[in-house]
Order: sequence, then structure tokens, then C-alpha cells
Amino acid sequence: TDPILISELANRMAIKSAEVVKKLFEMGMMVTLNEGIDGETAVLIVEEFGHKAKIINAAAVEDVLIEDISDDDEGDLQPRPPVVVVMGHVDHGKTSILDALRKAHVAAGEAGGITQHIGAYMVKLEGGERVVFIDTPGHEAFTSLRARGASMTDVAVLVVAADDGVMPQTIEALNHARAAGVPMIVAVNKMDKVGADPEKVMRQLSEHGVLAEDWGGDTIFVPVSAHTGQGLDELLEMLALQTEILELKANPTRRGKGIVIESRLDRGRGPVATVLVQNGTFKQGDTVVVGSVTGRIRAIVDENAKQHRTAGPSIPFELLGLDSVPEAGQEIFTVESEKQARDIVRYRKDKEREQGSEAQKRASLDELFANM
Ligand code: GDP
Ligand code: MG
Repeated sequence: TDPILISELANRMAIKSAEVVKKLFEMGMMVTLNEGIDGETAVLIVEEFGHKAKIINAAAVEDVLIEDISDDDEGDLQPRPPVVVVMGHVDHGKTSILDALRKAHVAAGEAGGITQHIGAYMVKLEGGERVVFIDTPGHEAFTSLRARGASMTDVAVLVVAADDGVMPQTIEALNHARAAGVPMIVAVNKMDKVGADPEKVMRQLSEHGVLAEDWGGDTIFVPVSAHTGQGLDELLEMLALQTEILELKANPTRRGKGIVIESRLDRGRGPVATVLVQNGTFKQGDTVVVGSVTGRIRAIVDENAKQHRTAGPSIPFELLGLDSVPEAGQEIFTVESEKQARDIVRYRKDKEREQGSEAQKRASLDELFANM
């Protein structure tokens, strides 16, 4: 995370910067007035001065909220469903595979309901295990998250059409999965088509360092067809196996924190964000912040248009109640109060403005030199 300037920190506590420097010195840290300190140290300092960290500075707030589950008490951790991202070249059948999986596994009582494309949804397996799938229309969210060192997915399914073979976006997707460090399963789709050549796909991918188990490598290839349903059960089985060993856990008792994977303005419902919960639980009535957008959760809606009071770890849901439409790819989290939400947004806007005016200054200097 970004370092916080000592002067900024002091300012927010209404004390002199020198006092902060002195305190840091006492703690064994030699810093000067104009240096930044990391969020963790900032929280320490703030507490040393008798304040609560969360109300002082949004950067610190984010640090507090972005703690990973290693900060959770072991006893609070509970198993959570795996989040699977489905990637691949356009038209190779990502959405079709997801639709087919979903149709075959709609929970009783949900069949026949209006299903909406919210870009993510949950499938229940025979054994009762749940798997959450994300359909990526673009990889932007994935990329911007990765840039911040966060990953929202546990496993990637790389879809390659058996007739088309490996294409540019296949490689792009492969690189994303690699960079995210998540295990990958290859689904060789459109096996029903004349000219389907799964061996060609295996050969092509082997040239990119992905070796099938059948060929002595460690990547699972599953031949499937979204149209006939061939191989889909096996794909789910492989996913279940793959994720079992990951022993995924989260802490549903803490405040909700997640990622906006899609967002739009709905004529009737206002700003709508599809949120994937990373940790904690979102509740109706919670105050949330995402980027510089705030809001109170008016409704939590699943992909079957059903409303819920809460949404826990790994659950994708549509969130209603935001003041405006947030950018996809951003982190969203629950805060304690509307005041805290406003503080964070003000801080973020100030920071944006600062960065904006700095960029402007640089630009005008450049102009100046250019004109000399
Ligand atoms: P996406 O862009 O990866 O999401 O691909 P889509 O799911 O939209 O599929 C692109 C096209 O391929 C559509 O016309 C699908 O009907 C077709 N398609 C998808 N899966 C299969 C399959 O298993 N067999 C055949 N024959 N066509 C498929
Ligand atoms: Mg699609």
C-alpha cells in the first residue's frame, strides 16, 4: 500500500509532525519529516497517540480492512466455496459452458426462475459442494486487481475450442492465470464439431509450457461440449478435486470486503454492482465504500433474482443502493459509519486532486521547457 506522509498523519491527528518523528524515533525508526511510513506503522503511531486508527486516515483504514485472512483468528475461519474464473479466446464457448453447467445444476426451486447474467454465479454439486464461476467478458478487472497484488480467483479454467485451437487471447488468458499464480484446468470445448482436434490443442499448449497429464505434465485437460454436455461433469469433478487440496477458508464474522466485477446503471434500480465477496459478510443496511462511491446496501440479489439479507465469503451478488456507478475491478468494503465512508471518500478525492495537480504542474513545466 501507499506510504503515508508523516506530515499528513500528524495533520490528521492535529499534532506537530515533529512529535510523530519523535515517537517513531522512540520506536527505533529513524525517519525525517518528509518521509512516508507504511500503513501498519501509521496505525501503530496513531494508537500510540491515543486515537483509533480507522478514523484517522483512509490509507490506514484500507490497510486495516485489506488485511488478509492470516489476520483472522483460526477459530473464526470456515471453509468457503472456490471461485473459478473461466477464460479463453472470444467465441470459444466460455459463456456456453457456464450456461450449460448452470442449467444442469440449478438448485431445486430455482429452476424456471428468471436468471440474469450478472457475470458470476454459483453451482451446487451433487455432494452439496458449491462452486462459484466468473465469466470474464474482458480481463480488465482481473488485470487491475493483479496490479494491486490481489487475486479474486482460486482456479482458472482455460477454454479452447477444439476446432479453432490456440488463439491470441488463449495465450493472453494463460499469461493472466500464470501471473495470478492460480492452478489451471484446460477445457477443450466444441468436441461435438466436425474437425475437433483435441490433440492439436494439447500440442499447441505444450509449446507454451502447458503439458497435459496424459503427456507426463501436470495440467488437466478435459474434453467437453457445451452443446451436448459431454465432459461437463468431469470438468466439475476435476474442479472439486483441484480446490479440495487448496483448503480455502475465510472469516464470515468480519465486515464484508469484496471486488466489484461488473457495474452498470439500471433504469429502474439505479446503480448496480456485481460484487464477489472475498472475506467477511455483507449485510443489508451496511454502509460501503468503493473507490469514491459510497452507499447503503438496499438489497442483496442473487443471479436468480432472489433477495438475501446477507452475503458471505465467495458469494457473488448484485448490490443495490450505491450513490453512483463504481468502476469494475475496484475493492468494496463495509465501514462502520456514514461518517467514516465520507472521510474515506474525501481523503481519496483529495489524493486524486493532489495527483492531478502534480501531473498538471509537470505538464506545464514540460511545456515551459518545450517553449524555451
Ligand atoms: P464466448 O465468447 O467464449 O463466451 O463464447 P460463447 O459461449 O458465446 O460461444 C460462441 C459460439 O460458439 C456460440 O455460437 C455458441 O453456440 C458456440 N458454441 C459454444 N460451445 C459450443 C460447443 O460445445 N459446440 C458447438 N458446436 N458450438 C459451441
Ligand atoms: Mg461470453
